[in-house]
Amino acid sequence: MLKLFNTLSRQVEEFTPIHPPKVGFYACGPTVYDRAHVGNHRANIFDDVLHRALLHEGFEVKFVMNITDVGHLTSDADEGEDKLEKGAKREKISVWDVAEKYTELFKADLKVLNVIEPDQWLKATDNISEQIALIKKLETKSFTYKTTDGIYYDTSKFPNYGKLARLNLEGQKEGARVEANKEKRNPTDFALWKFSPKGEKRQMEWESPWGIGFPGWHIECSAMSMKALGETFDIHTGGVDHIPVHHTNEIAQSEGATGKQFVKYWVHNEFLLVDNGKMSKSLGNAYTLDDISAKGFSPLAFRYYCLGAHYRSKLNFTWEGMQASQTALDDLLGRVAAMEGDAKIGCAEYEQKFFEAIDNDLNTPQALAVVWGLLKSDYPDPAKKASLLKMDEVLGLGLAGARVEEIDVPVDVQVLLDERQEARLAKDWKKSDELRKQIEASGFSVKDTSTGQEVGKIK
Ligand code: AMP
Ligand code: ZN
Repeated sequence: MLKLFNTLSRQVEEFTPIHPPKVGFYACGPTVYDRAHVGNHRANIFDDVLHRALLHEGFEVKFVMNITDVGHLTSDADEGEDKLEKGAKREKISVWDVAEKYTELFKADLKVLNVIEPDQWLKATDNISEQIALIKKLETKSFTYKTTDGIYYDTSKFPNYGKLARLNLEGQKEGARVEANKEKRNPTDFALWKFSPKGEKRQMEWESPWGIGFPGWHIECSAMSMKALGETFDIHTGGVDHIPVHHTNEIAQSEGATGKQFVKYWVHNEFLLVDNGKMSKSLGNAYTLDDISAKGFSPLAFRYYCLGAHYRSKLNFTWEGMQASQTALDDLLGRVAAMEGDAKIGCAEYEQKFFEAIDNDLNTPQALAVVWGLLKSDYPDPAKKASLLKMDEVLGLGLAGARVEEIDVPVDVQVLLDERQEARLAKDWKKSDELRKQIEASGFSVKDTSTGQEVGKIK
């Protein structure tokens, strides 16, 4: 039975879907104005492990992800430039082309990270009328007010506003800085619809009952998740940064409009840090998968890196850590590739331990420890392999595709290998070791296995 930490209750709870075996699962996806960085991908890998764990439990999951292609302002609040418009200026192409370009790159990233594609993608700009309809509903229920720059949500009208983040609203009022927007009634109020600035034609703008403009960032997730999964659904994920504002506002919008509970389980991933600090463009450490590949590492090694930490712990990204993950993954893939024969029955004891770890709030570091324990055990290879492939349905490290790497061995190295083989047969260990050193000096590694010498290329 899968247990998950629910941000709403601050407890690990048994996961019981509203309409079993169906599970509705919504993940806050990317804002497509630039390449996703490895921090974003930590969130995607976490979503994927959760998705795979649910599938493994036999649930029929509908996994939905949004694409934010309008309305997300640079300040994450209601001020600043639209991130998409900013991207368009930077690249001197239209906003629509920026959105398309980075959506495609994002999807390509997910593929190489072995993330199962969502059952449905929802684009904010494809769902403008749904967002307007939801704002109208909130207006009818008197949750909204108008200012010179848009339609706002009055958070004082929603009982329990801030329950997800346990916000101290009184404290916020007392400590409020001078608001940039003096017309806001409460510091936590947020825009549902923003008017296009006077005298300026935005590339993305729509007619609405309140005037030409564009939706606020939060309304898209309420409107699209309820459209795809119903007014109350099972799981909503995102990074911890979304708890105090974005998800808090989604709850206020959805529950304000329907009067029903919006989401049963809120599950959040902690941040990926770089050199123990924040990842940011200005520091040049917002690495992308291209940066990872340029250093000779595989995207799946990054996935392995993420699995090595619990999703609710901060994880520090370093290039040394990346190297260690690549080495471990290569070792794992190499061992699986070398396993011959198939078995229907795996190693039940290890499988049980593995899935206990996964069921325990997705404890992937513990699950990986079970994998290495199994590799070291005395079980025969076919049984080990059967279990590892089952475990990989959740880990997603591509073990089923592991192949012994065909490498071109130059003639001079092959001669050394043949000599070493002879030395080993003659039990001349000293000579065998000398030859190994010569082979390694030529850039190749050699491992002795039950089936003979295994050659690899030193990276
Ligand atoms: P954004 O494109 O900024 O809306 O972010 C997409 C997703 O990535 C959200 O769920 C964020 O919470 C998450 N995210 C952003 N930065 C990080 C980070 N450094 N570590 C983990 N998750 C992150
Ligand atoms: Zn969202």
